[in-house]
Amino acid sequence: MAFHVNIRRQIYERAGSHSELNSRNIEDLECSHLSHNHGLIEYNSAEMGVLCSSIEHLAYHLIFQDQPELIGLSNKNNYFAIRCLYSRVEKQSSDRNIDSHELARLIEQAKNEWYYYLEL
Ligand SMILES: [Zn+2]
Repeated sequence: MAFHVNIRRQIYERAGSHSELNSRNIEDLECSHLSHNHGLIEYNSAEMGVLCSSIEHLAYHLIFQDQPELIGLSNKNNYFAIRCLYSRVEKQSSDRNIDSHELARLIEQAKNEWYYYLEL
């Protein structure tokens, strides 16, 4: 489930043209949900979103692979998100000549940035 278009616009305006995770300018930014729990009143709010790259979005879902309930997802739904994001990231990487070793390194780096961002 994606953010409402108006909420997405708010997130993009707040962030400018950089990732909110690390302030780097990145192509193909997207809105990542901090929680996917639809029951939360703030589910569809700008506060619930972080503008980041697909690799960073993927890293977020990977961090919570063992405890997807912490981000409001079942194992199955988190796995599905990981698969979708991974195929997007692989496509972007091949377009940019990023090899699998470099991609693995970028994913690990993004995980560490999330740990810092989330104070984990
Ligand atoms: Zn997500």
